[in-house]
Amino acid sequence: MSRAFNFSAGPSALPLPVLRKVQEELLNYRGTGTSIIEVSHRSDQFLEIAHRTEQSLRELLAISNDYWVLFMQGGSTLQFALVPLNLSRQGETVEYLCTGEWSSKAIREAARVRRAHVVATATNNIPSPSSWNRAENSRYLHVTSNETISGVQFHEFPSNLDVPLVADMSSDLLTRVVDVSQFGLIYASAQKNIGPSGLTIVIVRKDLCRPLEEGDSEYLNYRAHADTQSMYNTPNTFAWYVAGLVIDWVKKSGGVEEMQRRSVEKASRLYEVIDRSNLYSNTVDPRFRSTMNVTFSIEDETLRQAFLSEAEHANIKHIRGHRMVGGFRASLYNAVEWESVRALIRFMQEFEKERVGK
Ligand code: PMP
Repeated sequence: MSRAFNFSAGPSALPLPVLRKVQEELLNYRGTGTSIIEVSHRSDQFLEIAHRTEQSLRELLAISNDYWVLFMQGGSTLQFALVPLNLSRQGETVEYLCTGEWSSKAIREAARVRRAHVVATATNNIPSPSSWNRAENSRYLHVTSNETISGVQFHEFPSNLDVPLVADMSSDLLTRVVDVSQFGLIYASAQKNIGPSGLTIVIVRKDLCRPLEEGDSEYLNYRAHADTQSMYNTPNTFAWYVAGLVIDWVKKSGGVEEMQRRSVEKASRLYEVIDRSNLYSNTVDPRFRSTMNVTFSIEDETLRQAFLSEAEHANIKHIRGHRMVGGFRASLYNAVEWESVRALIRFMQEFEKERVGK
C-alpha cells in the first residue's frame, strides 16, 4: 500500500496504527455486530469509549478534578465566542495577545460581545510579557499557543499572570508538555493532533465559569455540556472514538514528552535545511518558530510552481501555504513520521541543487 508523505495543515495525517484499528473495527465493533458509528451515543459501547477517552486524556495531561474536560462541536471557531460568554459578563474587559490570523479571529469574535483589549500585536514573533500593555480588571488573557498559518509558537507560557490564562492550542495540544494548572482554559479542535475534524476539546477550570446571561442560549453554556457529560445533544461519535484511539497511541508511544522530543527534532532538521539554503527562507524570529507548522517561501515565481508540481511527483502532498499568505507550509503534527520529513528534506535539497546549483 502506498501512502503519501502528507503535510496537510488540518484535517491532517492520523497515526497509521489508528487508521488500521478503525478499519478493523468499522464493520463489527468488538463483536457487537455493528459499527460504533451505527449505535446510539447513549449505548453501553459508546459510553464506555466516551468515559475511557476522557480518563485517558486526564491521565496524559495530568488534568485535575478542578477542570471539566468537554468534547464539543463547532470547532475552535465556536470557542472564540464561548470563551468570552462563559468567563466574563457584559461590559467586562478581556485581554488578548495578537500574534497572527487565529488570534485576530478570536479577538474579532470577543469584541462582538465584550470589551476586548489587545495587549500587543506581532506577526513573526511573540512580544515579551513585560512589554504588554495590560488592561485593568480583565477577566482573562487569551493567547494562541501556535499560529498554524504563519508558524509562530509559544515555547514558554507567561507565568504568574494576575488573571487566568486562556490558550487556543488547536495546533499543538498533545505535542508538548503543558502544565494544565497554569491555565484557566485550554481549547483545541481535533483535526491536527487529536483526531478527525468535528470535535473540539475544552479543558476549563470549573470555578471560572459564570452563569450565562439572560437571552444567551443554553447550548452556549459550558456547564450544560459538563452536566450532560458532553452529551447535551448528539456528539460526533466517530471523531470522539478516533480521538480515543489517538490518545491511546500517544500514551503507548511515550506520552507528550516523547511527542515533544520528536516534534523538536523533526522541525529543527527542516529549519536547518531552510537556513542553510539560498532558495528557501523563513521569516519567523527563530526563538518563536513553530515545531508544528514550518513555513517557507521561494522568491522566484516560476520556481514556486515547479516546486509544487515536482513535490507532488515525489509523493509529497499538501505543502502549499495557507491561501491568505501563500508560500509553503509543512505541518509536522504527531502522526507525521520521520520518514516523511526525511523525504521532504531530500526533495528540497535536490530541487535546490538542480535549480540553483547549490
Ligand atoms: N485556531 C487555530 C490555531 C487553528 O489552527 C484553527 C484551524 N486551523 C482554528 C482555531 C479554527 O478551528 P476550526 O476550523 O476547527 O473552527
